[in-house]
Amino acid sequence: MNVVLLGPPGAGKGTQAKVLCEEFKVAHISTGDMLREAVARGTEMGKKAKAYMERGDLVPDKIVVGMVTERISRGTDSPGFLLDGFPRNKKQAAELDEALGKENKKLDMVLYLKTSPQVSIERLSGRRVCVKCGANFHAKNMPPREAGICDDCGEKLISRVDDEPETVKKRLLVYEDETKTLIQYYKTMGILKEVSGDLNVGELFRDIKKFFQLESLT
Ligand code: AMP
Repeated sequence: MNVVLLGPPGAGKGTQAKVLCEEFKVAHISTGDMLREAVARGTEMGKKAKAYMERGDLVPDKIVVGMVTERISRGTDSPGFLLDGFPRNKKQAAELDEALGKENKKLDMVLYLKTSPQVSIERLSGRRVCVKCGANFHAKNMPPREAGICDDCGEKLISRVDDEPETVKKRLLVYEDETKTLIQYYKTMGILKEVSGDLNVGELFRDIKKFFQLESLT
C-alpha cells in the first residue's frame, strides 16, 4: 500500500506516520527528516537546503524530487511506503506520478489531515524534538516523562528553528499558496480521503487506521 499524508505543518503527519508505519509495516519516507539529516551531516544537498528550510520556504523541486525518486527506486523490504511531507506542489505531484509509473507502482491513497490554523500554530509552538534521535514531543499535549529530556534516548529536547512564530506563519502561507491545491488534484484522481487533523493523537490515529484497514482489504 502506497500512501501520501497531506496536510499543513502541524497537522500531525510525522507523529501519525511513525505509528502507522509500525502498525502496517510500510516504509516511512519523510522529506523533512531526510533534509534535516542532510543539513546535520553537512552534505552538499544539506548546504543547499539549509537556508530555504530556516526561512520556511520550500527547498527547490529539483533537489527534493531527486531525493524521493532515488529513495523509491531503491525499493524497500516493506509492502509499500508512506510519504510524509511530499509532494508539496503540483510539479512534485506530477514528477511522483511519473516516477511511480516507471516502476509499475501507483499511489493507493492520499490521506488529507484537514487542520485549522489555530491548531497547527498551537502544535508547532509547543513542539519539542530530540537533538539526537529526532523523536517528537509536545510541551503540553505529549510531554516527555522528564522535562527537556527525550524518553527514547535520554538526549536533550529543543524547539526546531523553523517552529519560531514568524517562520510558522511563512510555512502556513506556503502551504496555502502551493500545497493546498493538491487536495483537488488527488480528489480528481479519486484517491483522496479526509480526516480531521484537529483531533488528538489517539482519535486521529483511530480514524486514519480505519482507512488503512479498508484499503488493505481492496
Ligand atoms: P517538514 O518536516 O515536512 O515540515 O519539512 C521541513 C522543511 O523541509 C520545510 O519547511 C521545507 O523547507 C523542507 N521540505 C520538506 N519537504 C519538502 C518538499 N517536499 N519540498 C520542498 N521542501 C520541503
